[in-house]
Amino acid sequence: MENVSCDYCCFDDYNIICKQKDIVHKTSEDYFQIVRCKNCGLHYTNPRPNKKLISKYYPKEYSFYRTSKFNSLKELILNFLSNSLFGNLFIIIPTVYRKLKNYVKPNILYPITIKKNESILDIGCGSGISTHFWGHKESLKNYLNLSKNVFGVEPNTLSQQILKKMKIKVYSDISDINPTIKFDFIRMNWSLEHVHYPSRYFKFIFNHLKNNESRALICIPNYGGHIYKIDKSNVELPIHLYHFQYKDILNYCRKFKLKIEYFKTFSYASMYLFSGSINENLIKYKGMSLYSMQKLQKELNLIDKKNQGNDMIFVLKHDL
Ligand SMILES: [Zn+2]
Repeated sequence: MENVSCDYCCFDDYNIICKQKDIVHKTSEDYFQIVRCKNCGLHYTNPRPNKKLISKYYPKEYSFYRTSKFNSLKELILNFLSNSLFGNLFIIIPTVYRKLKNYVKPNILYPITIKKNESILDIGCGSGISTHFWGHKESLKNYLNLSKNVFGVEPNTLSQQILKKMKIKVYSDISDINPTIKFDFIRMNWSLEHVHYPSRYFKFIFNHLKNNESRALICIPNYGGHIYKIDKSNVELPIHLYHFQYKDILNYCRKFKLKIEYFKTFSYASMYLFSGSINENLIKYKGMSLYSMQKLQKELNLIDKKNQGNDMIFVLKHDL
């Protein structure tokens, strides 16, 4: 375990916000704490497992390392049924019904259009097959159909092997990437909250975006979001090392000469169902029916419009 000062402003005094065990992956019985920098307000996990120890807190079956085949058509059908009244009829087939509950989510358009042969870098890409939230369509595997210049950064060795088999060039860390290599598109898909030093990644993005047409996509949990207002400790601890809000990302962008071109928040009902099953403070969402989840989703969509959704999407470019 290491004690750290604020990654953004280097200040080393903070308030303790909450303490919690690893309620999500149950990798240990230890308590971890989230602190808030007294100077800039950034929330982070402190003390935290250092870079060498952190892998011990990732469960072996961490979903983004998975190798199973994704079927786009199946995904499309599940998406449709989960979000329509018709899906409720499947209550008579419990295995399908349970599955449908995982797909209750808002209809969010992917904010980036990949052009033919663009160079793409996905930082924290897992095995390149699944993409958190965006589905198979936006996976590195699928991008290979559009471009030969597909790259990933992933520390997990099993995932690295899978990527190599697909002929995707993979690095263990951004520091392994030659400073002269530039990209048209850089993505951090729910990975920035896992890194030890976010500032290095903003600097990297600034240095490695090719030109003024190039974009970076950052998707992360929104610690200012609705579910975290109910319980500040409803977090994947200790593997989430940072708990960002909009103003934190704005601060980093200003510091590293990046501009926020697009911003949106969203929430999905499945997160409440899952949290209800592991967290006493969200017990009212435990075992919701598909119908209740669809109703909740409509309420969440209204919260999202006020930018208080539980996840944030940012598109960044050079601020010239
Ligand atoms: Zn700070």
